[in-house]
Amino acid sequence: MGGFGIALLPILFVALVFAGLIALLAWAKRGDGRTDLRRCPRCWYDMRSLDGLQCPECGHAAKRERELFRARPRQRAQRGATVALAVLVPVAIWFLLPAHWTRKTPPILLRGLLALQGTPALGPAGIPAPRGGTSYPNHGWQNLVWAHDVGLAIDACVMHAQRGAGPLGDDEFADLAAKLAQMHDLYNRLQVMPMVDGWPVDRARLRVARAWQAARAEHGDADPRTIRLAWVLSEAQFPGALYDHRPDWTTTPDAIIEQALAHPSAVVRQYGLSRLSNRVHLSVMRESTLRTAPGTLPRVPAPPFREIVDQIAGSDPDATTQSRARDLQSYWDAFNPP
Ligand SMILES: [Zn+2]
Repeated sequence: MGGFGIALLPILFVALVFAGLIALLAWAKRGDGRTDLRRCPRCWYDMRSLDGLQCPECGHAAKRERELFRARPRQRAQRGATVALAVLVPVAIWFLLPAHWTRKTPPILLRGLLALQGTPALGPAGIPAPRGGTSYPNHGWQNLVWAHDVGLAIDACVMHAQRGAGPLGDDEFADLAAKLAQMHDLYNRLQVMPMVDGWPVDRARLRVARAWQAARAEHGDADPRTIRLAWVLSEAQFPGALYDHRPDWTTTPDAIIEQALAHPSAVVRQYGLSRLSNRVHLSVMRESTLRTAPGTLPRVPAPPFREIVDQIAGSDPDATTQSRARDLQSYWDAFNPP
């Protein structure tokens, strides 16, 4: 029995309701059943004592004699049953569609429902932390709320990045790097999420991309306002992914990597090394594609700052940072990007 019985009951109920409505419609249409009376088929005026096909009461002209002998339908019942069917048919189709309700409800309604959820509490770095924890919940509506919360984290990063217009000071840089690292970590958990539930994140990432493109058009690529937004956008990417054909994709700006590598905080220098490794990885990946299909794709620019990495590997005051730099050196040497 089990799941089969549970699925069958609502279907039986819906079928019964429909059978009832269709019977009601048929009954209303048959009406009084009188086909022996000569009546106007529009206003039901008695035309037994009249000649001709035109009704003197409402002016309706029947085309044939036969039309004057129709049964009079029960119009209110007919209208009621028609309206009920017109409402219930789409509702029944909606319920019987096999998808989860979050996947068959119009997006505009889902966006309204998500907006009603409000804002979650802030995480350790000061941007919204998804309710339900940092792990993707893997359950219908909670997936969507989770993706919505990650979208809010992305929006918060944009807001923080846009607080100033000039180059970032050391404290501001460290604060934003921590926020972006938290957002990046959340974004990456989407890799296990079916993309169909990830659309609130996609929408948030598109907002960053549009703001970045607008800043590029208005101020140029080298302006700090553009660089701040390019940085946010680069953190809303899967590490190692190479979607450089897409307008919503970018890498960590060189100016940001350079500033991170020279930062007084070891945590921020390690952050810079990790983003520089992504850059090295991308040119290695692209070169390996180009070896099998030469000239099909643009080259990824050669990664800069090798001398800085060598310096950090040799003389950074922090042991962990030194060892991360040495890891990057060996990867760089083993795969030899252009
Ligand atoms: Zn009439």
